[in-house]
Amino acid sequence: MNSTVYIGLGANIGDAQGSLAAALDALHAEDLIIEARSPWYCSSPLGPVKQDNFINAVARLSTSLAPLDLLDCLQAQETRQGRRREVHWGPRTLDLDILIWQGISMETPRLTIPHPYLTQRAFVLLPLLDLDPNLCLPDGHRLDSFLDQVQDQHLYRLETISEPGQGMTS
Ligand code: ATP
Ligand code: MG
Ligand code: MG
Repeated sequence: MNSTVYIGLGANIGDAQGSLAAALDALHAEDLIIEARSPWYCSSPLGPVKQDNFINAVARLSTSLAPLDLLDCLQAQETRQGRRREVHWGPRTLDLDILIWQGISMETPRLTIPHPYLTQRAFVLLPLLDLDPNLCLPDGHRLDSFLDQVQDQHLYRLETISEPGQGMTS
């Protein structure tokens, strides 16, 4: 049976939007269907590292993969697209994070779901809510209940919003 999963995409080196679109095209396969993509966003970097703005988006997938197999698949794609892990939270050609896996909560050394910083980041909360305005965490908390705490983060949408859940993949 397939699971519904939301992943976050981010990049701030080179043609960032092109890199994110290329990653979605490459990931789309028999066991991993990209069902929808949020609008593209531009966000100011959070944290201590001085770096360029990011392009971000969220995609909704349907997959038969297990969580760690999906993580392997996302990390392999990051590596294929030139990801280097030199500075934690530093500039990157591609970051692919598992945000929400419907019905699953897990905490292991390699993988935490939901993503541990999900509720503190406007650049994932807003695109998740574009895709599904009623989205909840596995514990039942509505995602829109966390918007107040990210109001001061600089973020803007780069394209008009399509019908919820009807986003294009590229
Ligand atoms: P952040 O996690 O704050 O967004 P990051 O995405 O820059 O930081 P990475 O260098 O991409 O961090 O990943 C560091 C490690 O995080 C990965 O090796 C992976 O094992 C682990 N990890 C834990 N939970 C997740 C998750 N939900 N999605 C992706 N990676 C995760
Ligand atoms: Mg990340
Ligand atoms: Mg990551």
